[in-house]
Amino acid sequence: PELLSSGEPDARGRTRPHVIFVPSAGMGHLLPFFRFIGALSSHDVDISVVTVLPTVSAAEADHFAALFKDFPSIRRIDFRLLPFDASEFPGADPFLLRWEALRRSMHLLGPVIAGVTPRVTAVVTDVTLVSHVNPIAKDLHLQCHVLFVSSATMMSLLSYFPIYIDNKDAQADVGDVDVPGVRRLARSWLPQPLLDLNKLFTKQFIENGREIVKTDGVLINTFDALEPVALAALRDGKVVRGFPPVFAVGPYSSLASETKGAKEEGPPLAWLHQQPARSVVYVAFGNRCAVSHEQLREIAAGLEASGCQFLWILKTTVVDRDDDAVLRDVLGDGFLERVQGRGMVTKAWVDQEEVLKHPAVGLFLSHSGWNSVTEAAAAGVPLLAWPRGGDHRVAATAVVSGGVGVWMEHWSWDGEDWLVSGVEIGEKVKEMMADAAVQKRAAKVGEEAAKAVAEGGTSHTSMLDFVANLMAA
Ligand code: UDP
Ligand code: UDP
Repeated sequence: PELLSSGEPDARGRTRPHVIFVPSAGMGHLLPFFRFIGALSSHDVDISVVTVLPTVSAAEADHFAALFKDFPSIRRIDFRLLPFDASEFPGADPFLLRWEALRRSMHLLGPVIAGVTPRVTAVVTDVTLVSHVNPIAKDLHLQCHVLFVSSATMMSLLSYFPIYIDNKDAQADVGDVDVPGVRRLARSWLPQPLLDLNKLFTKQFIENGREIVKTDGVLINTFDALEPVALAALRDGKVVRGFPPVFAVGPYSSLASETKGAKEEGPPLAWLHQQPARSVVYVAFGNRCAVSHEQLREIAAGLEASGCQFLWILKTTVVDRDDDAVLRDVLGDGFLERVQGRGMVTKAWVDQEEVLKHPAVGLFLSHSGWNSVTEAAAAGVPLLAWPRGGDHRVAATAVVSGGVGVWMEHWSWDGEDWLVSGVEIGEKVKEMMADAAVQKRAAKVGEEAAKAVAEGGTSHTSMLDFVANLMAA
């Protein structure tokens, strides 16, 4: 494409776009931001990234550092949070607290954005901050887009939920939510804090949901073949009238900076190389899952009983900074010895995308976090969804309807006062490893994903549309 100079309009009055990204906290939010930024950097745009240090987790700090090292032309815009008294929210999740701290500092963002040269032309914000960031962007006469880190189905819930609440009898329970044009979402599938309108999460969710419709566009890490119904309903204004343009630009690819560590061939990859094709069950429940030790031991028993090889990425705490629980203690005596050679368990950070694309991997037992779902879809690996909380059940609906895999709806986690037994886990894993129909469907999704991001594919075209929209600013 013809190169435009920064800041100064060209003969046709166009300026090279300068996009400032406002990411939030949590790897599930940062990774899709960084991957999208990586993809956008191959287009003719200036990019800046608002950076809050210190980060909540060590993994976040590593990935911020890698981004700026690998993309020296991307500007780092340091942002200082106002002091925030977390004692107002006893027991709240550290990432939710960071979202709230960010939201309460966002009024300082206007002057920061206004001070950046060349002049910023568009803001891309994380969904958790949009109700604060969109008005700031509008005051500065800038475009504001949302980079959504969950599914199109979840976006439909987010944007419809405020309308649903406004029209609901104030005394009535939240109940099942029938999202117009999309589907009915059972009460038990919703992020559970939404059942209580006084929860901090719910207040943020409703404020952000109301603001979405006033933004200039929504970027989603999905593709048309994966969520055709939700995407069409959003675009046709069936969910909310006057919904902004939806750019379905996924699935994203991981950045070179994420792969680099693993290229030095950490033990998990080296071990995978030695396993036969489609013989390994990959087990991972996101990067912040603290699961009861009893349930972890049942999972261990299930993997052992399945007779399959397995690679298990085991995170035992919510924030990796204090991840000192010892595997041996958690898994019980003798387990690691008994599965030696057949199973590998690690707490280390692995490049999950690379693992999923490895020919040895035949099944992904997952908490159904949206990034994990899109990575499984891209790799064509069947996913056995065992949703934990948050948006995982809504994501699991797309796992099933999109053909990515199977959802064990009656499997739940601790806090729900019973365990899923090792016997049941083992049987389901074994069954899915042998299920040719499931494998064929997942492989087809993988082909569709590759088509979507290839030249002329739906996601590729959507990305070009997004860049063209930036040019029109
Ligand atoms: N991830 C990874 N290596 C790890 C742990 C996590 O690459 O050791 C990545 C994973 O590939 C995914 C993200 O972290 O991109 C987790 O996001 P997801 O939405 O699946 O779950 P969350 O952690 O947000 O619940
Ligand atoms: N979310 C949202 N609007 C908000 C806050 C959160 O749509 O104002 C979404 C967020 O993108 C995620 C889900 O709600 O998909 C929250 O899930 P969870 O509590 O598991 O947190 P996360 O996994 O994102 O850290």
